[in-house]
Amino acid sequence: MTSSLNAARRLRELAEVRDLVVDVLVVGLGATGTGAALDAASRGLSVAAIDAHDLAFGTSRWSSKMIHGGLRYLARGQVGVARESAVERGVLLRHTAPHLVRAAPYLLPLTPAVSGGQAATAMTGYRLGDGLRMAARTPRRLLPGPSRISAERALALAAPLNRDGLRGALLSWDGRLVDDARLVVALARTAAAHGARILTRCRALELAGDGAQVRDELTGDTFTIRARAVINAAGVWAAQLNPDIRMRPSRGTHLVLRPETLPGLRAGLHVPVPGESNRFALVLPQADGRIYVGLTDEPVEGPLPDVPQAPEEDVTFLLGVLNSVLEVTVGREEVAGTYAGLRPLLAAEGRTSDLSRKHALLTSAGGVVTIVGGKLTTYRRMAQDAVDRAVRLRDLDAGESRTARLPLAGFTPGDVRAPGRLAERYGSEAESLRALMAEDPALAEPLPTGITGAELVWAVRHEGALNVGDLLDRRTRIGLVPADRAAALPAARAALEY
Ligand SMILES: Cc1cc2nc3c(=O)[nH]c(=O)nc-3n(C[C@H](O)[C@H](O)[C@H](O)COP(=O)(O)OP(=O)(O)OC[C@H]3O[C@@H](n4cnc5c(N)ncnc54)[C@H](O)[C@@H]3O)c2cc1C
Repeated sequence: MTSSLNAARRLRELAEVRDLVVDVLVVGLGATGTGAALDAASRGLSVAAIDAHDLAFGTSRWSSKMIHGGLRYLARGQVGVARESAVERGVLLRHTAPHLVRAAPYLLPLTPAVSGGQAATAMTGYRLGDGLRMAARTPRRLLPGPSRISAERALALAAPLNRDGLRGALLSWDGRLVDDARLVVALARTAAAHGARILTRCRALELAGDGAQVRDELTGDTFTIRARAVINAAGVWAAQLNPDIRMRPSRGTHLVLRPETLPGLRAGLHVPVPGESNRFALVLPQADGRIYVGLTDEPVEGPLPDVPQAPEEDVTFLLGVLNSVLEVTVGREEVAGTYAGLRPLLAAEGRTSDLSRKHALLTSAGGVVTIVGGKLTTYRRMAQDAVDRAVRLRDLDAGESRTARLPLAGFTPGDVRAPGRLAERYGSEAESLRALMAEDPALAEPLPTGITGAELVWAVRHEGALNVGDLLDRRTRIGLVPADRAAALPAARAALEY
């Protein structure tokens, strides 16, 4: 079956699901839900998977885009969680999504504020992280080990660093996604290729162990999807569908800077937060040239917004930390955009929760399986656990999970990629994008961040984009900078009509 998602397929499959009893209904199309849809469909189960909005509408598009090796868990003595993270990082780098995930370098600048003892402790941490890499059998050629480098070399990798008193830097490596939303799109399309019905703009109004009341958000129609097993992967909103669960979300804010704000930044930075021991902010250069600066961690009370906003105090805090290591001062007016996401943290255990791996799997009295917490890096393992639970609970006829070796859409094992922006985003499908541009050279004109009209048309035809928001805020991330979004709006409208 084709992996292409589009408006016509959505309509056809929406009609089909009304007359079926699917094996598994998945609610939520973030990394966890699309991962669960793929896990179930690739075991041969029939699947419907719905989202109230779009693919990657929730937390999955607001991450730092890091595929973590689990070092922070090791620091807290959670060896099992750390190992799982490193193993999943290796799976993505080697087997499933090497087109979307690669190693990225980070510097911890040794400024006068970082004592020799702190530097030694940090280096020990990085070496332990390298041990996790080895334990997970990820080869060094994919993820180099840490080293201490001179001030000259640090400045060659990160020209904007303040050189006054700079003793050098600690260089370490971790995994980085070209884009978190693109991982979700690749998962959804791979699931679709295995027959999963991926239905955006379908909100679950109520869940039961044998299906859900659903509203088509485009027409207002309500209907039932009947299922043998139901998986709630609604992230921070999961508690709205399961009264057994209480969430305690925390907000993480990032700043978005234009490439020209910090020229010569070729590596990410771990910046110690002044006055706090062992807390770091991250400076994250992106493949599209923009630079993200994160990350706050503030508890959130009250009703959950669909799209969280970054408050001004988060912006001031992050700029303060960033400027503490730079030669120049980045001003508020140079912050081109901001974004915030809500971490789906669980407040209390449900009856059958399993919090041992930092993600929780709960089965409600009515038989709904809820999977929450965890992180992007471990989405695959979370999905496997949720489907395993559903299979056992309902005695479904399915084999073992296959996703640890299942290439995602865009990765063809053995394919040698010509390097370049398109290959980084589309892997082996880059050729089809080039063909679109060859057919109509107007589609090769670059938009902000270098995205082309061809990519927008591709997103409409194959990636399930239904409106300008899908195109500018999720299939591409042009919308992270409001001025860029406004500039690209006409091209997005044209792509929908193309
Ligand atoms: C600021 C920040 C930075 C992070 N950085 C990293 C990182 O660098 N690396 C990492 O590994 N992890 C990171 N994480 C964690 C990671 O992003 C999340 O754990 C992960 O994305 C959660 O994915 P999810 O699919 O469970 O939830 P979500 O992505 O939130 O998906 C839930 C979906 O459910 C849908 N939904 C909700 N209610 C309904 C309903 N009633 N009916 C239908 N659909 C519904 C929503 O629209 C949404 O699309 C970060 C988190 C935050 C907040």
